[in-house]
Amino acid sequence: MAAVAFVNLCKIFARHHVVIRDLSLTIESGETLVLVGPSGSGKTTTLRLLAGLEHPTAGRVFIHDSDVTDLPPHRRGIAMVFQNPALIPHKTVRANLEFGLRLKGVDRIAERVRQTAATLHLDNLLDRKPHELSGGEKQRVALARAMIREPAILLLDEPLSNLDPPQRLLLRSELAQLKQKLEFTMLYVTHDQEEAMSLADRIAVLDQGTLRQVGTPTEIYGHPTDTFVAGFFGTPPMNFISGRFAELAGRKHFVFDAGQFELHENSVPLKNGDALLGIRPQDVALEALDRADVIGIVQLVEFLGQQTVVHVDIGNECVVKTFAARPDLHKAGDKVGLRFSRHQLHFFDAASKRRLAVTAN
Ligand code: ADP
Ligand code: MG
Repeated sequence: MAAVAFVNLCKIFARHHVVIRDLSLTIESGETLVLVGPSGSGKTTTLRLLAGLEHPTAGRVFIHDSDVTDLPPHRRGIAMVFQNPALIPHKTVRANLEFGLRLKGVDRIAERVRQTAATLHLDNLLDRKPHELSGGEKQRVALARAMIREPAILLLDEPLSNLDPPQRLLLRSELAQLKQKLEFTMLYVTHDQEEAMSLADRIAVLDQGTLRQVGTPTEIYGHPTDTFVAGFFGTPPMNFISGRFAELAGRKHFVFDAGQFELHENSVPLKNGDALLGIRPQDVALEALDRADVIGIVQLVEFLGQQTVVHVDIGNECVVKTFAARPDLHKAGDKVGLRFSRHQLHFFDAASKRRLAVTAN
C-alpha cells in the first residue's frame, strides 16, 4: 500500500507563480523517498503540502489511501524535522522527548524515551539542555522528538544542511543505518545529490516544480532521463559535448567539432541528427595522442586529495573533466589525448535535452 500519494498536485502562489506543476508521486510504506533539486525547485513546498501547512491549488494528497487534502496538519499523523532543530531551550533532552508524548497522553513514556534515546545514541545526553549540545547532537534530539511520536510518515527538510562537514557525514551514515533498522516511511528533502544517493530507496528529482525522474539511486545515476538529471548527480558532473550522428564509411559515428568516433554496435542511437553526448569524468581516460578520440589542452589540474581532476579544453568553449592517476602527471598547457569509454556514453536530444534510446536499451 502506498503510504503517500500526490495526485496531479499544483501549487500556485501569488502573482501566478507556479511552484509545483502537476506532481504525481507515490511513497511506499517503509520507503525512504528523497526529494532532491536545486534551491527554489519546490521541495519545501511539497513537504508543506503533505504536512497540511499549504493547501494545493489543484490535485489531491492521500495518506494510506485516505484523502487528507482538506485535513489539518495535526490529523495527518506526520512529524517533521527542519534544517534548524526546533527544541524547547530551557528543557532537558529527556523533557524535550517526553513533552509531545505527555500532551498526547501516551503511556510507557519512560520506556519509549529510553528506547529512542538508545537508537539515536542520546543515552548520555538526556540530562543536558539544548545549549549544552553540538549542532549534530541537537539535530539528533530533533529526530528523536519526531520519531518518538511514531508518526505514520516522517518528513525531513534538509536536516543536515546546517551541520559542519564531519557532523553532517556522521549523522548521514547514522541515518542510513537507522533507516535499515526501523520501518519508517520517510520523505527526505535535500539539495545535496550525494546525500540523496546515500540515503534514498528511491530519489525524485525536482526542477522548477516539475518532477524530472523517479528511480533508485543507481537508475538515476546510470540512466538519467534528461540533461538536467544527468548533470545534477556526480562530482564533477557529467561532461556534455554537442555533435551529431553521421554515417562514415558505412558505420555510425558521433561527430563533434574536435573529433569523431565510431559508436559501438550496442549503443547506436535510434535517431539521427544533432545530439549531446554525455560522459562522466571517470569514463574519460587520458590517453596517448595517437590512440585518442580527441586531443585537447590542459587548462587546470585540481588536486583534491584522493582525486586529481584535470580540465581539458577541446576547443569551441568545451572543457572536458577527467581524473588523473597522480597530481604531477599533467600541468596547464600540456597537450593531452582523451578516450571515451564506449560502454558509458549517454546521448540526449539536442533540442528537448531528453535521453535518446540506443540499440542496447
Ligand atoms: P526549495 O525548498 O526547493 O528551495 P521552496 O519550496 O521553498 O523551494 O520554494 C519554491 C519557490 O516557491 C521559490 O521560488 C519560493 O520563492 C516560492 N515560495 C515558497 N513559498 C512561498 C510563499 N508562501 N509565497 C510565495 N512564494 C513562495
Ligand atoms: Mg527548502
